[in-house]
Amino acid sequence: MTSDRIIVIGAGPVGLCLALRLAQDGVQVCVIEALGEDNFLEQVPRAGTNHPATLEMLDRIGLYSKLELRGIVAPLFHYRERKNNELIAEFDHSHLKDDTRFPYVLQCERIKIVEEALKLAKAQPNIELRLATTFTSFTQDADGVTARVNNAAGEPEAIRGAYLVSGEGARSIVRKELGVAFEGFTYPDRTLNIEVAHDFRQHGYTERNYISDPDEWSNLFHWKGPPDRWRVHFPTAREEDEAALTRPEAMQARLQRFLPTGKPFDIVGSNLYVVHQRVAEKFRIGRAILAGDAAHVNSPIGAMGMNSGIHDAFNLAEKLVCILRREADADVLDRYERQRRHVALQHTQAQTIRNKRLLAEKDPAVRRKNHDELRRTAEDPKLARAFLLRSSLIESLREAERIP
Ligand SMILES: Cc1cc2nc3c(=O)[nH]c(=O)nc-3n(C[C@H](O)[C@H](O)[C@H](O)COP(=O)(O)OP(=O)(O)OC[C@H]3O[C@@H](n4cnc5c(N)ncnc54)[C@H](O)[C@@H]3O)c2cc1C
Repeated sequence: MTSDRIIVIGAGPVGLCLALRLAQDGVQVCVIEALGEDNFLEQVPRAGTNHPATLEMLDRIGLYSKLELRGIVAPLFHYRERKNNELIAEFDHSHLKDDTRFPYVLQCERIKIVEEALKLAKAQPNIELRLATTFTSFTQDADGVTARVNNAAGEPEAIRGAYLVSGEGARSIVRKELGVAFEGFTYPDRTLNIEVAHDFRQHGYTERNYISDPDEWSNLFHWKGPPDRWRVHFPTAREEDEAALTRPEAMQARLQRFLPTGKPFDIVGSNLYVVHQRVAEKFRIGRAILAGDAAHVNSPIGAMGMNSGIHDAFNLAEKLVCILRREADADVLDRYERQRRHVALQHTQAQTIRNKRLLAEKDPAVRRKNHDELRRTAEDPKLARAFLLRSSLIESLREAERIP
């Protein structure tokens, strides 16, 4: 008899949220993760702004209360002009108080989310967690899927299940094996992230800041420590040498140009990354399904990648539960693709492309017009609510619900 078990590849935020949500409804899940106990927590922090709708989902699986203790509740965010450090517009999530139980974002990094989710997964009897196990390939037939892995003992092993979900991240082997194109583009510039132990609030910034400049836009975000850290993102030219860019003196000089304090910043880390805007042509073929970064990647400006990936996980879990309970047939997974692919293209991708353009705009007249519009929007409660419904992805979820 074929197992009703769901195989999830990847214990990232998307794989773990999916597994926890499925297990909560009594579904057996096998999570396969290449990293082991010894190196699971050595991952780069990456994503960290959790939007209100995501917080509702995290609460549903018992994760929110753990994360609130490790994060920063941030109701406000700023658009700022780098020149003269001028505030353009302040948006306040309290405009969403009738739309969500969480009218704020929680600044809590991916690494903390996976650490806490892993603890919950370990305590959940419906989840079999296979760490230090690398997924290599799979096959599917009419009755189920077979995932091939190299297990923790270094031996090849076949694992059987009803469906296979790739939460493997952007380099998804499942997507490649399915021959699904990852359509889109890669930005020519790379983003330099510098982490600094310095309280930028004393200079007027809030916990999340999108800073516009025709020559060097940036983002500035606050993360809970100890010690508290602020991440500053800067664009850099593709051809610039990584070693030269990340030399302490070069980073110090860049930070002083950004905010001249006259005193050296305490730099506690840095990394350089390439940014893609890509959406998979298909989100499912037969019993193999893509979710999170395996299905779509985008610029981090606007904090939508992980959030929309977690939204994929919850949408998918609901449908898989219905299929396994024989309350829906497998075609319901086509709706998953219609809903979530629409969100990836029309919300996540469209908004993050727009966000970057807005910050980097060079034409002074267009900059002025954009900034006036942001100001007007933030000052009018009705417009501000509409803006926040979009930026927090609540509207994307409502729109997806209307897709048949
Ligand atoms: C600098 C930066 C900042 C970001 N900031 C934000 C933000 O503020 N908000 C936001 O929403 N998003 C943000 N993102 C995007 C976010 O990090 C990703 O969208 C998110 O981590 C995707 O989650 P995932 O679970 O799909 O994949 P991942 O987080 O990539 O996890 C994939 C997991 O699969 C495992 N795996 C991979 N291959 C295999 C294999 N063959 N076998 C077994 N296991 C495997 C990996 O080890 C990993 O644990 C940011 C990204 C970057 C780079």
